[in-house]
Amino acid sequence: MLFKRDDAPAETFPVHRTEAEWRAALSPEAFRVLRQHGTERPGTSPLNAEKRPGTFTCAGCGTALFDAGTKFESGTGWPSFFAPIDGAVAEKTDRSFFMTRTEVHCAQCGGHLGHVFPDGPAPTGLRYCMNGVSMAFRPAQD
Ligand SMILES: [Zn+2]
Repeated sequence: MLFKRDDAPAETFPVHRTEAEWRAALSPEAFRVLRQHGTERPGTSPLNAEKRPGTFTCAGCGTALFDAGTKFESGTGWPSFFAPIDGAVAEKTDRSFFMTRTEVHCAQCGGHLGHVFPDGPAPTGLRYCMNGVSMAFRPAQD
């Protein structure tokens, strides 16, 4: 091989839809964030203020991503969590915008959720900084 590509081959995920199918299924803003690695404007998501017990799910495929018990107020304007539900998300190094960050996506559909930073609270010390538009909230049943 004379040329070596440094980008990894496209990943495949258990939930797969074409770009046109995602566009039809999602709001324009959710499509931009989930499928095009966009970032919502801070402070715009109603999920910032969500404090009830329950589960935050993927807006793309409905997978449970975060338990409300792991949410904390980070002051960033994006919903923030210290830990995902086991196996719900996957991570990848993101070198865009001249920074090295760890990108977080849904393990089932590959939808972009946000980034994880090593400055979160106990017990993990991690801050999962998520786009609210990438998620939906399911209140706990009582
Ligand atoms: Zn998903």
